[in-house]
Amino acid sequence: MKIAVFGARGKVGAVVVAALADAGHDVVEIDVGDSVALEGCEAAVDFTQPDAVEGDVAACVRAGVPCVVGTTNFDREAVDGMAREQGVPVFHAPNFAVGAVLMVRFASEAAKHLPQAEIIELHHHTKVDAPSGTAKATAEAMGGEVEIHSVRLPGLVAHQEVILGGQGQTLTIRHDTTSRDAFVPGVLLALERVRELPPGLTVGLETLL
Ligand code: NAP
Repeated sequence: MKIAVFGARGKVGAVVVAALADAGHDVVEIDVGDSVALEGCEAAVDFTQPDAVEGDVAACVRAGVPCVVGTTNFDREAVDGMAREQGVPVFHAPNFAVGAVLMVRFASEAAKHLPQAEIIELHHHTKVDAPSGTAKATAEAMGGEVEIHSVRLPGLVAHQEVILGGQGQTLTIRHDTTSRDAFVPGVLLALERVRELPPGLTVGLETLL
């Protein structure tokens, strides 16, 4: 497939570009200052920054190119609206690591029995948004009223702890992304499946598993 990668020189984008090339895809690399050449692309991936997503998706849907968005904390309503209007599917996962998807599922189950909980999410110091998209999705899956603490430090990649407290006990569910390679299988799966999705925005890796 010919696939465009927005944010190709970023930390995640560079890993995705290498993985797509290894899998035999023809990759169009797009980063700040590059022209947006989508001719002939069958799909696109975006790992940029929240305020860039709308423009990138607008270019994709105008060109009829289905798009997989990895960037977190963008305006989902706006993106869904433009994708529906142009009749093009767009897919977003707040976290493409399967372990993180399982963490959200386990936390949602645990919250039924231990309703008091807090989330600590820890990321590299260059991450621009807080709290993380995964932490927000976890809190939502747990019923909403869950406090989130954000830590930003060099040396970290992406980590999250969900701590649930009950009478005389605590339960901790923890996920660690030790390398950005963790996102690759999820991104490849989304790229394979995005064209079959309905027009508009579909959210969550769990919808594809
Ligand atoms: P990063 O290293 O800052 O990379 C972002 C790259 O995108 C930079 O090279 C940036 O260029 C470029 N860029 C910005 N606006 C652009 C545009 N309009 N068109 C093309 N390129 C553009 O960040 P990262 O760590 O790779 O993370 C990127 C995003 O992915 C963040 O929102 C992060 O939260 C998210 N993320 C999601 C997952 C997931 O599983 N869903 C996993 C990890 C990260 P400049 O540096 O020149 O601005």
